[in-house]
Amino acid sequence: MIVITPGCGMKRCGNAIRYGVCNWIVPAESDETLCAACRLNRTIPDLRDPRNVMLWGRMELAKRRLISTLLHLGITLPSKSDNPQSGLAFDIVSNASNPALLIGHLNGVISVNLEEADDTYRQIHRQQLGETSRTLLGHFRHESGHYVWHRWLGNLPWDHPQRVAFCERFGSDCLDYPGALSTHYARGARFGWEQSFISAYAASHPWEDWAETWAHYLEILEGVATCESLGIEVSRLALPVMPFPVEAGALPPMLRQSPAADSDFLAWLLKWVRLSTTLNDISASLGEPALYPYVLSTRVAQKLRLIHYFAEFWGGSANFHPNSICVARANANLPRVPHRQSTGECRSPRLQPNVAGLLSAW
Ligand SMILES: [Zn+2]
Ligand SMILES: [Zn+2]
Repeated sequence: MIVITPGCGMKRCGNAIRYGVCNWIVPAESDETLCAACRLNRTIPDLRDPRNVMLWGRMELAKRRLISTLLHLGITLPSKSDNPQSGLAFDIVSNASNPALLIGHLNGVISVNLEEADDTYRQIHRQQLGETSRTLLGHFRHESGHYVWHRWLGNLPWDHPQRVAFCERFGSDCLDYPGALSTHYARGARFGWEQSFISAYAASHPWEDWAETWAHYLEILEGVATCESLGIEVSRLALPVMPFPVEAGALPPMLRQSPAADSDFLAWLLKWVRLSTTLNDISASLGEPALYPYVLSTRVAQKLRLIHYFAEFWGGSANFHPNSICVARANANLPRVPHRQSTGECRSPRLQPNVAGLLSAW
């Protein structure tokens, strides 16, 4: 945690000062008033309603965690206004004011429904959709998967090795997307989807399979890193787990092979199997449902392996190792300040990520 004091060279994000919904910081000499995460907002809720401010704070907390993970991976996040082609923007809007709003991604713009920050609302929808879990962070991670796919994979020629590798693992995305989703919602997931997909929704279309698996990759990455940063030696957990077969760690043949990297990846993934099993047992002992109610099949492990390859490639870190991510911890619950009336929009003029400055907290 960084303590902001006069002369420390940093100042609090404007959304922290005005609304109490952020705890990131900005270099004191910067002309910017908002932090790198808040500057990615294209639309924010109507803040005349105090309930919206409260829900928005929950949204921003989840969003900052996603952005922190991506920046740790080395994935730059230009704003949509700076880079219309590959930039990122967030629209955080309540479907109470815009009934047509859908959670989703379109050309670098991630839209989220503010009402999802209401726990009751979210649980009702989780049950209606038959989902195993439904979290704000999960929404952001999932939609970021669509964003990175659009940014890096969507424009590649069909015969590019990376595009071919995607199709080899996730299937051809030529499949009619609206039709596939309609079929999924009408009939449910195909029988036996658990053998090949991380979730029932992932079985609806290769793009959704990618986004769901990407979200799990980020979840596993943070889960392992958080425990290890707290001093928990996951590899010493005495659990009799079944190792993955060697092929689970292999990349598709059209990509450059690295048996050593494959082995490292499987060792890391096995840590998560141990850790998630432990967490589920602890949760059960407390009378709570499983924290990670998912099964990582060999086929899913192969998809995670390809996503790890892309994360390493896009992050520009040849030496990136999943165990190297070090999660900064700090108090995410700064005291709230009185709300002020605001316009419903916040346009970000430009984004100049300052990793040293912004990673003080989630
Ligand atoms: Zn901020
Ligand atoms: Zn999706």
